[in-house]
Amino acid sequence: MAQVFNFSSGPAMLPADVLKQAQQELCDWRGLGTSVMEVSHRGKAFIQVAEEAEQDLRDLLNIPSSYKVLFCHGGGRGQFSAVPLNILGGRTTADYVDAGYWAASAIKEAKKYCTPNVIDARITVDGRRAVRAMSEWTLSADAAYLHYCPNETIDGVAINETPNFSPEVVVAADFSSTILSAPLDVTRFGVIYAGAQKNIGPAGLSIVIVREDLLGKAHASCPSILDYSVLNDNGSMFNTPPTFAWYLSGLVFKWLKQQGGLAAMDSVNQQKAALLYEVIDNSDFYRNDVAPANRSRMNVPFQLADSALDALFLEESFSAGLHALKGHRVVGGMRASIYNAMPLEGVRALTEFMVDFERRRG
Ligand code: PMP
Repeated sequence: MAQVFNFSSGPAMLPADVLKQAQQELCDWRGLGTSVMEVSHRGKAFIQVAEEAEQDLRDLLNIPSSYKVLFCHGGGRGQFSAVPLNILGGRTTADYVDAGYWAASAIKEAKKYCTPNVIDARITVDGRRAVRAMSEWTLSADAAYLHYCPNETIDGVAINETPNFSPEVVVAADFSSTILSAPLDVTRFGVIYAGAQKNIGPAGLSIVIVREDLLGKAHASCPSILDYSVLNDNGSMFNTPPTFAWYLSGLVFKWLKQQGGLAAMDSVNQQKAALLYEVIDNSDFYRNDVAPANRSRMNVPFQLADSALDALFLEESFSAGLHALKGHRVVGGMRASIYNAMPLEGVRALTEFMVDFERRRG
């Protein structure tokens, strides 16, 4: 089969080496004569996988021992509920920064549990979408925490600043579409969470990194499977965890280490994004309407000047092995998601196709 590059926003492309390894050991995992999916999560073999995955993640992100790592169900949206249920701690408000679709979705969910103080950070700079600088976010004195989403998967908008608020501000952040794409100073956050299906592994797993002192404050009505303390006390095995997703994510962590860790990923990710934005910016045929400082390096939305050509672009790009480029319905146009597993060569193939398409149809 001809080489395919999958630009899906999630579930997204996984490293080919990881898929090959999973395929090789699928039916006979560790000589047990069964797959990893069929063994007890409490058995020695799986526990070893689970512990190694956590340690590898800790190594990659340099997570201090004062932070707990939880392997959860419920995806990113599950955490939209889990964060207020665990972190409000009796308070009635939290600061929520709105800079895009997913931040707004988190706000909608939070309204079930508190009265969020919404900080509207959506601005326009030189006619392009942008985000208000962190120094201009007006926090409320009685907020239990500050929530924001550093990478808006749909809007293609990123907040690249590292939070630097006073130490009592508990920062909770939705890293679903940007975790592991670059080094991260975990100590600036109270809670970091991410659905796995973009830059970690398959859907079904979400990862939470939470500062130890924030445990034990869950609301009485918090479902046990969302309660960070319950999950922590039970090694993320209060109920049956998504074992296959956990195992496969563990393979991805090992692959990331082999690639040279997050500094190495960061460098390739920068090259990939620069290449794609350069082709867009150097043309009147393609357009991205996000201000350069807030452009996402993971999700690159772009429009064709003539939207009548959208269907043809998608048809021809698919035939060229460049899949899943259709933009999200709320933004339209195209979107290329270029997470860690997308090689530079895939982005090169896309840009070559774009230049050629413009030459033929422009
Ligand atoms: N947050 C972000 C930034 C996302 O991109 C997504 C999914 N695209 C979600 C949350 C929701 O994740 P899930 O579908 O796993 O609930």
